[in-house]
Amino acid sequence: MRLSTITNWAYGATVALTLASGATMLMASSAEQAERAAVEQRAALDQMTSALLEDSYRQTEQARAYAITGDPTHVIAYRREKAALRSVEQRIAHFRDVGAGQNELNALHQALQLVDGLTEEQEVAISAAESGNGETARAILFGNEYGRELDNAAAQVARFQYILDQRTEAAVLRATEAARQWRRMSEIMLGATALLFLCVLYFILKQRILRPVVRLSDVVTRLAAHDFEAIPPDFPQVDEIGDMAQAIRIFRENGLERQRLEQERDADRIMRDLLSRMTQRLQGCDSTGDLVEVVRRFAPEIATGFAGRLYIHDARRNAMRQACEWLSPAASALEFSPGSCWALRRGQMHKPTGEMIDIPCEHLGEGLARPTICVPLSVQGESIGLLYFEEPETVLPEQRERAEKYLEMLAENIGLALANLRLRDALREMAMVDALTGLANRRRFDAALIDETGRSERTKSPLACLMVDIDHFKRFNDSHGHDAGDAVLRAVGGVLNDALREDGYAFRLGGEEFVLLMPGFSLDQAMARARQVQDHIRNLRVEHRRQEVGPVTASFGLAVFPDHGRAETLVQTADAALLRAKAQGRDQIVVAAVRDRASVPG
Ligand code: GH3
Ligand code: MG
Ligand code: MG
Repeated sequence: MRLSTITNWAYGATVALTLASGATMLMASSAEQAERAAVEQRAALDQMTSALLEDSYRQTEQARAYAITGDPTHVIAYRREKAALRSVEQRIAHFRDVGAGQNELNALHQALQLVDGLTEEQEVAISAAESGNGETARAILFGNEYGRELDNAAAQVARFQYILDQRTEAAVLRATEAARQWRRMSEIMLGATALLFLCVLYFILKQRILRPVVRLSDVVTRLAAHDFEAIPPDFPQVDEIGDMAQAIRIFRENGLERQRLEQERDADRIMRDLLSRMTQRLQGCDSTGDLVEVVRRFAPEIATGFAGRLYIHDARRNAMRQACEWLSPAASALEFSPGSCWALRRGQMHKPTGEMIDIPCEHLGEGLARPTICVPLSVQGESIGLLYFEEPETVLPEQRERAEKYLEMLAENIGLALANLRLRDALREMAMVDALTGLANRRRFDAALIDETGRSERTKSPLACLMVDIDHFKRFNDSHGHDAGDAVLRAVGGVLNDALREDGYAFRLGGEEFVLLMPGFSLDQAMARARQVQDHIRNLRVEHRRQEVGPVTASFGLAVFPDHGRAETLVQTADAALLRAKAQGRDQIVVAAVRDRASVPG
């Protein structure tokens, strides 16, 4: 049974008992009134009965006094007394009015008749006394007969009195008993009401106040200790306890909200720290390789659990090429054209799956059920790369929300770092390239020479070095001008660049001097390539201002490691061969002599 039902029943019972005890109190009070009325009736009847005899005795006294003294004042007094007496019927009616019963009235009637009989004899005696016959009057009033009649009347009144007493005594007793019983009843009812009231009060205090207050106070203590697992009990009643429970509920909700915000703020701070750490590392990157490594390590931490790939735009092929991946992504090609990604087309994050319907990117391929995210890496409107993510199979909403929130920041930082690296690479490239011919310059040659000689020594593979010097170049300048000289340099540079392509490197060392490095070339192979170059230069037709600039020839000095000595003296050996070519008449290829090895110091 519900608490409210029990309480309502208890309220009802208390009210019913209160009403019942009120009714018994009323009954007790009316029983007391009845008792009082019975007592009063008996007293009234007693008084009236004793008045009966007293009246008769007083008349007898007056009549007797007159018979003895002959004083007429006694007669006057006697007449007044008699006149005051009412008739027998009137007196009986009076007794009936006061409450006498019928058999009592019968006894009274007999007594009154006897009293009336005495009155008649008194009249006879007074008449005799008035007519001077005092002796007769005295004989009547003091005779034995009169005395007996007086006693009879007194006995009859006493009998009436006795009957009356019997009845009124019983009535008084009854009324007293009834009043006592009603009083007791009302006391019991009152006691029961008070007891029930106390029980209800205790029950209400305990169930409705004490217990809820204890539970609420327990919850408040736990909430104050930031234990938000404590759930305030639901007290729907409209009272202070209900208001308190409601207030505590609101307090808890506010606490939970505050805790959530704090957690969010902490998570945000951790993530921003991570992003800032990643940005610092990105800024310290010297090469794209470094950057790729940083992204590979940080990206899965920032988009927790999301597998992904980093693509970098390859301008030569106009393609997005994968630079690295993490957590084994299931889809997306390793290389694709930028047009097959909607994120790159629109320059915005693209999520083809999710609540909003959208077009999946072509590069994803077929059959991937998981949601994907493409974030372009763009700088000044140019897409220089792409971050690709795959949602984990089980992902919490907050995990997804957080990943999406930080992905754009991540992409922005990576994009900037990548752009910086590209800029630096471009500058470095510019510093390493000869602007006139487009060939690598001396600085690049020095670095390449160290690399290639080192590698050749390690792998014991050959390395050929062909020094090239245009013959009588000064004449082009002198005869046709500096620009014509430049045109010749460009033309020869083009020949040297085409001569090797993937097989080796061509450099302009300065002025009209060039060098070819050919890793893995034997002397014969290098010689064959040198002849090709010589032929191409001879066949050059350089025009300047629509005028052909004389025939171009060059002298060549060829040295091969290990045939012609140590790797570190390879260039000097080739140079020496070139000098010999010049000395021997130019437009020829001179292979370093083995004796050059000895002639070169070191
Ligand atoms: P040799 O056959 O002995 O090599 O004779 P050469 O005239 O080719 O050699 P030399 O060293 O006497 O002359 C090189 C000239 O190249 C000197 C210089 O003015 C010119 N020169 C150097 N750099 C450039 C350049 O970038 N452009 C032009 N037009 N001329 C240059
Ligand atoms: Mg020269
Ligand atoms: Mg020259």
